[in-house]
Amino acid sequence: MNRDKKHIAILGAGESGIGAAILAKKQGWEVFVSDKGSIDEKYKEKLKELGVKWEEGQHSKDEILNSDIIVKSPGIPDSIPLIKKAKDKGIKVISEIEFAGYYNKAKTICITGSNGKTTTALWLHHILKKAGINVGLAGNIGDSFAKQVATEEHDWYVLELSSFQLDGMYDFKADISIILNITPDHLDRYEYKMQNYIDSKFRIIQNQTTSDWVILDFDDPILQKEVENRNITPKIAWFSYGTEQEQGGYIKNKEFIININNPKNQFNMSIHDLALKGKHNAKNALAASIASRILDIRKEVVRESLMDFTNVEHRMEFVASVHGIEFINDSKATNVNATWFALESIEKPIIWVAGGVDKGNDYSQLKELVKDKVKAIICLGENNQKIIEEFKDDVDTILEAKSAIEAVAYGYQLGKKGDTVLLSPACASFDLFENYEHRGKEFKKAVRSL
Ligand code: ADP
Repeated sequence: MNRDKKHIAILGAGESGIGAAILAKKQGWEVFVSDKGSIDEKYKEKLKELGVKWEEGQHSKDEILNSDIIVKSPGIPDSIPLIKKAKDKGIKVISEIEFAGYYNKAKTICITGSNGKTTTALWLHHILKKAGINVGLAGNIGDSFAKQVATEEHDWYVLELSSFQLDGMYDFKADISIILNITPDHLDRYEYKMQNYIDSKFRIIQNQTTSDWVILDFDDPILQKEVENRNITPKIAWFSYGTEQEQGGYIKNKEFIININNPKNQFNMSIHDLALKGKHNAKNALAASIASRILDIRKEVVRESLMDFTNVEHRMEFVASVHGIEFINDSKATNVNATWFALESIEKPIIWVAGGVDKGNDYSQLKELVKDKVKAIICLGENNQKIIEEFKDDVDTILEAKSAIEAVAYGYQLGKKGDTVLLSPACASFDLFENYEHRGKEFKKAVRSL
C-alpha cells in the first residue's frame, strides 16, 4: 500500500498501541505514542528499544493534531474532544487492525458478535492449526495483529474483533467474516441506540466481495432482519440450533451437521462428542466448523478438533466440587445474554452470584430462568439495587457480598449437595475488581480455600 510515510500518532500504549508502533516504525513512519494513563513497564522498555517518541500521563494535543493519521486504542471513545478535533481537521482516526491491514498479506477470518468471540476464535484456530495451516491468532487475543504483521509470516489469520475495533475500520477486508449474535451490550458507547451497535458489528462485512463468505446465526432475529434490509455482497452460510440449513450448519436431534459447497459431502457428528458443553458452545462450534469446511479442511481433522479442544479460563469453567456443591466460574459473562446461556445450560438448582457495573442491563430477560432454576442470589457489586428490585419476588434469598471470599462463603453456606454456585455476573467488574480475570481468579481462590 502506498501511504505517505509521515507522522503517525498512536493513542493508548497497551498491546494494540505497542503493536502499531512496532509496525509503523518498521514501515518508516515518524511515530508518536501517547497514553493518558501510565504505561506498563514492559511496554515502556519496548518503546525505548524502538527509539520512538512517547509520553504518558497526558495527551500533547499539538503533536497529536499535527499527525497525518491517528491509531486509537479501542478503549478510547470517539466522543472525547481530542478525537472530535482530529476528525474535524480531517485526520484519519483508525484502529490498530485497520492499520495492520494496510500491510497484511495473509487471508483473514474475522469473528465478531456480542458473545462467544474468544471461544470461537480459539476453537477455529485450533482446527486450522491441527490441519497444518500456517495460521496466526490476533485481535483481542494474545499478541496484537500489527505486531504479528510486523514480525511474523502467516498464510491465514483468525481475528477476534470487537465493535470498538470495527468502528475504526474502513478499507480492511475479511475473506471470511462471522457474526455470532447481536444482543445489547456496550450501549453506553453507542448513544444507547441499538441500531448504532448493530451497524458497528456489520462493518465486518464491508468491502467483502461475492467470492467471500459471511457466517451468521439463523436463530438471531436481529441478524435475520438486517440481512433482509441490507444488500449483502458475500455468500451467506447460516448456522442454527434446530433448523436445517442447505448452506451452513445446524443441530437437529443431537446431530451436528455441516453442509458447505457439496451436499453429498456432509459433515456430521453427535453433539455429545463436542469438547465444550451447552447450547451456546454448540453454536460457536458450528460457526468455527463452517469456516473450516469453507477452507476444505478434512472432516477427520474437524471432528478431532471439535472433540479435543480445551476450554478457556473464566467461561463456564468448572472450579471444584466441595461437599457435593459445584462451583462454576463464568466471570467473563459481562452482559445479560451471556448469563442467560449460563443459567440455561445448568440443570441443577443454582445459587447465582451476579452484579457489578451495570451497562444499561435489562434483567427481565432472565426472569423465567431465575424463577425456574435459581434458589438464591448473591450480589457482588457496589450497587445492587437494580438486581434486588428485579428479582426480590422471584427468589427467597438475596444477599449482598463485597468480596469474592464473602460471596463464596455465602454460596457454601446456602448450598446443599447437588447445587451449583455459579459466578455469572451479567455485569462488568470494575467496581470491586481490576477486570473480569481478576474477579474470576479471586472467585477460584476463594473456592479452593474453602
Ligand atoms: P467474547 O469474546 O465475545 O466476550 P467469550 O467466548 O469470551 O466471548 O464468552 C463470553 C461469555 O459468553 C462467557 O460467559 C461464555 O460462557 C458466554 N458465551 C460463549 N459463547 C456464547 C454464545 N454463542 N452466546 C451467548 N453466550 C456465549
